[in-house]
Amino acid sequence: MKRGRVARLGGAEPTIQSLTLQLNYANIAALGQSTVNNPMSVASENLARIRAQITDHLDRGETVKRSAEQSRALMDAIKIRLEQHNAVLVAHYYTAPEVQMLAEETGGFVSDSLEMARFGRDHPAETLVVAGVKFMGETAKILTPHKRVLMPTLEATCSLDIGCPIDEFDAFCNEHPDRTVVVYANTSAAVKARSDWVVTSSIALQVAEYLQQRGEKILWAPDRHLGSYVQRATGADMVLWDGACIVHEEFKARGILDLKKAYPNAEVLAHPESPASVLALADCVGSTTQIIDAAVKSSASHLIVATDQGIFYKLQQMAPDKQFLIAPTAGNGATCRSCANCPWMAMNELEALDRVFEVGGNEIEVDAELAQRAMLPLNRMLDFKASL
Ligand code: SF4
Repeated sequence: MKRGRVARLGGAEPTIQSLTLQLNYANIAALGQSTVNNPMSVASENLARIRAQITDHLDRGETVKRSAEQSRALMDAIKIRLEQHNAVLVAHYYTAPEVQMLAEETGGFVSDSLEMARFGRDHPAETLVVAGVKFMGETAKILTPHKRVLMPTLEATCSLDIGCPIDEFDAFCNEHPDRTVVVYANTSAAVKARSDWVVTSSIALQVAEYLQQRGEKILWAPDRHLGSYVQRATGADMVLWDGACIVHEEFKARGILDLKKAYPNAEVLAHPESPASVLALADCVGSTTQIIDAAVKSSASHLIVATDQGIFYKLQQMAPDKQFLIAPTAGNGATCRSCANCPWMAMNELEALDRVFEVGGNEIEVDAELAQRAMLPLNRMLDFKASL
């Protein structure tokens, strides 16, 4: 397997915001450091303290920035605005719990990016309010160009999207004219328009298998961890763009092994944007929807989850009898940048949703000719999914 060029992340380091369910695993890891001879393990005497700290965190629940009454008042106000504007709220699993709750209460939808796209396309509302990151809004606009697509802020982007600029990606594709270009949904409209296939993590394996059976070689972008996972699982001939998700890339196999010492019967559910060393420990590797399905079906009482913490809202809703543990994101003594919180997903706050119809500059626009080209691989993905 060859490696594509190194993608560069543009812009400043993201500001990491304090979100729900934040837990400092750097501190947890540091608990074991002073008495650890083997740096790959946590001393057993610290396991009880680790368990107590996790339990305390779970008991404390969310770190709220407003009172429950204030949140409720905002949600009620947004509900009225959605009705007034004949709009529907479509939210990603990684958004804050109250945003997901609001989508559910108002006849909207909470899901992964593939299902968000399909729901937005098929729903009769004239306006889609997309709570997620920019590529999700663009996808909604491409699939439903006649609808107005609003987002709480257009600044909510994604490290994978930023790390795959169209000019460099186009040059990379031109270096491999014999390959079928498969891009992840987490890309700009321009990158999608340059592709043959768009995939989400929920159907990446099936698409790669399909192309492999047809004897096609794949150029994959932008997530190197997901691409590498697909390559290992299918044996497909792939060259990879070298992008990464700043959230999933930080999950640490060592931390998961330490956590499993405290919870030996816990199963590990991991998103394939995580490093290979993390995926090697997983009982289930899958998209957000597949992780939720696996959690519901699992017989384990404790589940260690390696994906953004926003998913805990749906996990707890779907499997209330189980305890979910955040996979550690830092090694001993290290600090985490994202702490399993996507800083861009966090921008979808209730306050921003409350202003979504009047703030201006937050409507998704996609060039019509670009949208036409991007629609082809997107529809190919939706048709392929429907045929499974
Ligand atoms: S969690 Fe990762 S892949 Fe998802 S939007 Fe955030 S940076 Fe992008």
